[in-house]
Amino acid sequence: MRHIALEEWKMYAKDETDEDMRIEYEEHLYSCDQCMVLYMEAVDAVQEDLPSIEGPSLYTDEVMERIPFENSDVRKPSRKRWYEEKVFHYVLATAMTLILMATGIFSELLKVTSEFEKNRQPSITENMLLKTTALLDGVEKVEEQEAE
Ligand SMILES: [Zn+2]
Repeated sequence: MRHIALEEWKMYAKDETDEDMRIEYEEHLYSCDQCMVLYMEAVDAVQEDLPSIEGPSLYTDEVMERIPFENSDVRKPSRKRWYEEKVFHYVLATAMTLILMATGIFSELLKVTSEFEKNRQPSITENMLLKTTALLDGVEKVEEQEAE
């Protein structure tokens, strides 16, 4: 399967990807470390690009005009859009944690830890844990920025 480019991840993070692609990206994300890194880069980059929630309404209007609505009657305020998006990424991070827990990787990690102490070899489990932690940290960072 082809990898997904940083620009595509940015579109995904901005919720500008169509439904089919989004599913494809998400499936790919679960199986590709490389793209997980890119995705997190994209989320960071997109957060920097975003106007603050209290930002100028001029920008929001411009964005609103560019968003293709399936049903033109549904014009949600963009404040809500960004909020929903943040929740989406949080849910994604949580879902990943739950998947790791459900697949028994965390309990496996407890067993592995003592062996890991002995031979100091980075394990896949550790990498996955770091990845999840980093993603959750990213979400927290966003929350802090928005709280300012
Ligand atoms: Zn990939």
